[in-house]
Amino acid sequence: MHVHDVDKVELPGLLMELSHLYFEQLGTEREVDVKTVVKETTEEEVYQCSDCMTMYNEIYGDITQNIPPKTTFESLPETYECSLCEAPKSSFKKKVLVK
Ligand SMILES: [Zn+2]
Repeated sequence: MHVHDVDKVELPGLLMELSHLYFEQLGTEREVDVKTVVKETTEEEVYQCSDCMTMYNEIYGDITQNIPPKTTFESLPETYECSLCEAPKSSFKKKVLVK
């Protein structure tokens, strides 16, 4: 009988505690997510092909055309073409991405 009494008293309390922990963790995770998003919000300039929407990102360059990372769009050769649809460099339009 004694054991039964203990079970009845402690089980709801234990469940409460567990669900509290659960929601605390949820809350914590959400806070961390928000902070991470705020911290990583950056503006990124890319150049987008107006024909097929392919983007040239100076950070990555264009490995398909031997353009090394950190090559500015301006310094791309005039012969640069869209890697997908072969549109000329002049078809690219500057675009600011907000992440
Ligand atoms: Zn294109």
